[in-house]
Amino acid sequence: MSRMRASLLIAANVVAAAVLLCGPAAAWAADRSILVLAPSAEDDRIEPAREAIAFWNDRLAELGVDTRLSGPRLIVDSPVARTVENYARSVAQRGVRLPGGEAEPDAPREITDLDTDIVLLLSGQHILSYTWPLPRIDPPRHLVVIRLARGLDRGDAMVSRHVVAHELGHALGLLHNDSPHTLMCGPCQPLTSEPDETGFLPLTPTERERLVALHGRR
Ligand SMILES: [Zn+2]
Repeated sequence: MSRMRASLLIAANVVAAAVLLCGPAAAWAADRSILVLAPSAEDDRIEPAREAIAFWNDRLAELGVDTRLSGPRLIVDSPVARTVENYARSVAQRGVRLPGGEAEPDAPREITDLDTDIVLLLSGQHILSYTWPLPRIDPPRHLVVIRLARGLDRGDAMVSRHVVAHELGHALGLLHNDSPHTLMCGPCQPLTSEPDETGFLPLTPTERERLVALHGRR
């Protein structure tokens, strides 16, 4: 089952971030803290998100780089969730076409005031999953939006953790590649993509080099 659906969902994800992550490499904090906003404590994307974070920390450790994803802190039914959802929708509606720049409006204070490097929104909306660098914030901070799973996909942990892992890859500075059976594929090949021994689709050698270049070795 899920190989194809995972690929399809990741493919549905790829449009936004290809455009959004074209800025220059910047200084990166050694640890990137993650705040997860979830609509309920029972949300079935929470555990897959934890698995995706653990995946990245394992890969970063293998590479010997400084950066780790710390946390995640989980907030259920946050009072700022509505503001974040509205911002997520507004970015999704215009972001695929606009790469940002000076005309890009600032993110709402409710988001920039959050004490975290990455806001991971488990959205209640049927919108694209994507990763968005908050405008004019340095060092960079990101909003990662994970769409509401639906229908037969709901509860499919493999799909959710691949989508989260793919988006966190963007938050760590990776772009899309043209290898259709890898984690950062874009476009992806909705046929036969096999996870490797990590349980996730593989990274490419070029992506490993980029992570080292961006984040530095310990
Ligand atoms: Zn992507």
